[in-house]
Amino acid sequence: MKTASRFTDFSPYTPIEPFEVLSKRLGRDPEKIIKLDANENSYGPSAKARQALAEIRWPHIYPDPESRALRTALADFTGVPMENLVAGAGADELIDLTLRLILEPGDKVINCPPTFGMYSFETRLNAGEVISIQREPDFSINLDAIKLAIAEHQPKAIFLTTPNNPDGGFPEPETIDALLDLPVLVILDEAYIEFIGAAGGRFGEKLSRIQQVPQRDNLIVLRTFSKWAGLAGLRIGYGAFPNWILSTLWKAKQPYNVNVAANVAALASLEDLDYLSGNVARLRAERDRLYDRLKSVPFLHPYPSLANFILCQVENIQAIELKDMLLQQGIMVRYYDTPLLENYIRISIGRPEENKIIYETLMQIASERSLT
Ligand SMILES: *Cc1c(COP(=O)(O)O)cnc(C)c1O
Repeated sequence: MKTASRFTDFSPYTPIEPFEVLSKRLGRDPEKIIKLDANENSYGPSAKARQALAEIRWPHIYPDPESRALRTALADFTGVPMENLVAGAGADELIDLTLRLILEPGDKVINCPPTFGMYSFETRLNAGEVISIQREPDFSINLDAIKLAIAEHQPKAIFLTTPNNPDGGFPEPETIDALLDLPVLVILDEAYIEFIGAAGGRFGEKLSRIQQVPQRDNLIVLRTFSKWAGLAGLRIGYGAFPNWILSTLWKAKQPYNVNVAANVAALASLEDLDYLSGNVARLRAERDRLYDRLKSVPFLHPYPSLANFILCQVENIQAIELKDMLLQQGIMVRYYDTPLLENYIRISIGRPEENKIIYETLMQIASERSLT
């Protein structure tokens, strides 16, 4: 017996080291670890979500397969009819489900690296072929190359992240319009749209494309509660889907994909928007402050970001070594050393005291190493 041949050289998605494991390894209390490596919300969930979790009355009963209560609240939050909305165990599940439904073996999907790793992972997992159209040096997408690739490969979909992970850049609205005019399904990942700031409104709604989904056949918009609402550990995301894919989606979806805890926590979050928007605003202000501070760190070149993280090019020191030095101080960041991201780190935005500590630790490393 053997597994399908496409898994012979399959490279797994490498998740981050679990918090508890790391805490043991460093001999450091989890409370004293500054976790800035996975863009989680360091303010955590709203107190209303915590309370709703504590008060779950029917954990022994399967959840509503259609997440009706949550989708009704999401319709109100997004302005998209609930018929077009589907909830998932994180946006990740919806990426997988979408590709499962649209790909025949060997079908192509355009990816614009460097970007979120799940798009290429899930494409390969679902027997598709990834066509990579590398981003420009400033991490903007290469629209001309994308047009050529679409003409040459007739891809089933293209992934675009707004703002992009890991650089935090946001395309010009005209660029998104131009992509939407091409003969391809655009899977737009708005995991960080809530963090854009003034131009986006309270939760990014002014720059979001989610309301265009019901009027277009070639747009899917994905969202998550993991970042802005602090629910990453509960796995809850949602998407807006056009009509042609919805009936198959409902047939193919695991009936109980969104668990009872995720459902109630997400609902409670939508009832605590004033509180959560305060945290989002604090994270945005901290992002802009940390960006200015990082510019003064001699061995870092930070990129301006509209999300809750900052990508930095690292000079005169190996990014992996820098990551390990920070880890010894109980600070976790993500590092990259790939052909497209040679010697970079990505720092998630934490609470003010955490951002202060990482900045001071970086400056201390600079002075110890005489990197000025
Ligand atoms: C974090 C992240 C997600 C994952 O969302 P989940 O709802 O936690 O699965 C999706 N897209 C991007 C770009 C992300 O960075």
